[in-house]
Amino acid sequence: TLDQAFFRRFLDRATSVVTAEAAHLTELDAAIGDADHGINLKRGFASIAQALAAEAPEGPGALLTAAGVHLTNTVGGAAGPLYGTVLRRMGKVLGEEAVATPEALGRALAAAVASVRRLGDSAPGDKTMVDALQPAADAYAEALAGGGDVVVALDAAARAARAGAEATVPLQARRGRASYLGERSIGHQDPGATSSALLITALYEATD
Ligand code: ADP
Ligand code: MG
Ligand code: MG
Repeated sequence: TLDQAFFRRFLDRATSVVTAEAAHLTELDAAIGDADHGINLKRGFASIAQALAAEAPEGPGALLTAAGVHLTNTVGGAAGPLYGTVLRRMGKVLGEEAVATPEALGRALAAAVASVRRLGDSAPGDKTMVDALQPAADAYAEALAGGGDVVVALDAAARAARAGAEATVPLQARRGRASYLGERSIGHQDPGATSSALLITALYEATD
């Protein structure tokens, strides 16, 4: 059931995994960026957890919107505002319903990816988080259209996100700090695509 508890489990798991993987994400960012991606996300999600513990808004939409506003306000750099946009956009699309439908979650994911692409002026192949998020949203929609339930669709989304993140290794970065390196960005996995795969996996794991 895609209720308040589901989205809370998602945020809890996201916080845990981002904390556990912070050193790895920062290491990836050290290779092609400024070595702060894990630090940024760990700080951002910890502060979301703290804020939501103090006062949790009612309903999936309001919860994600509050988390997104918080992330944008507390995390600098590129990824903070981009992930803040993902959560706020999803919150807006989910609206005021107490329980989201699998179709609404699909619309929310698709709209969130579109917002990131617009804000970042980025597309698949640019070696950014979009390389994990776009395949995830597409795989979710495809699985649902094929008759899968939300668990099947989120599993497909998580697999597609992980494959998309791995597929950034041979790409040359065209957006963000890594693009300053030109060809030297080739051969490294994009930190933001890697964290996106972790976050989509957290969404799948929130189903149980
Ligand atoms: P910063 O680069 O400001 O230090 P982070 O290290 O937290 O921010 O995040 C870097 C990640 O942000 C990159 O790995 C990439 O996935 C993502 N990113 C950067 N610029 C863009 C963009 N224009 N569009 C989409 N994603 C981007
Ligand atoms: Mg960085
Ligand atoms: Mg930075």
